[in-house]
Amino acid sequence: EPTDVASFLNKIMTPYREMGDLEGKLVELDVNVDRSVALDRKRIHQLLVLLLDNALKYSDTGATVKVSAVIEKKRLVLTVADTGRGISNEAKKHIFDRFYREDKTGNRETGGTGLGLSIAEWIVQAHNGRIIVSDNQPQGTIFKVSLPL
Ligand code: ATP
Repeated sequence: EPTDVASFLNKIMTPYREMGDLEGKLVELDVNVDRSVALDRKRIHQLLVLLLDNALKYSDTGATVKVSAVIEKKRLVLTVADTGRGISNEAKKHIFDRFYREDKTGNRETGGTGLGLSIAEWIVQAHNGRIIVSDNQPQGTIFKVSLPL
C-alpha cells in the first residue's frame, strides 16, 4: 500500500537521532511531500541506513546530518547531507565501487567493508533511480537519490 513519506522517514531516523544525541551530532529531517507514494519500503529503508551510517561515521562531534525529501517532476528526491570530513574528488570516482574505502587503515572507529555504497547504488539502480554525490558547503558531503514514482 502507499507510503506516508514523513512517518516512514521519521521512523527510520529515530535511532539515528538518538545516536546523534549521544555523539553530539544534530540529526534533522525535513519532509516536503504532501501525499503518499508507492515505495519499496524495505529497500529504501536499507538505502537510507547505508547513507545515514556513513554520514554519522564520517563526521565529528558538532556535525549536522540533514535528511530531506521532496517530490520534483514525478520523482521522489531524497538527500542526506552531512557536515563531516567530505570526500576528495579523486575518491568520488571510486566510492561506489565494491570494497573501495578511502581510509585503508581499517581502524575500528571508521571501520567497514567498503560495500555500503555499492549496495546503495545497486538498490537505486534496481528502482531505475539515480544517486549522485556532491560537496556540502562549507564542508561535508551530500548524497542525492532520485527515484521515479
Ligand atoms: P561500510 O559502508 O561497508 O561500513 P565503508 O563506509 O568504508 O564501509 P562505503 O559505505 O561503500 O564503505 O563507503 C566507501 C567510502 O566512501 C568510505 O570508506 C569513505 O571513505 C567514503 N564515504 C562514504 N560516505 C561518506 C561520507 N558521508 N562522508 C565522507 N566519506 C564518505
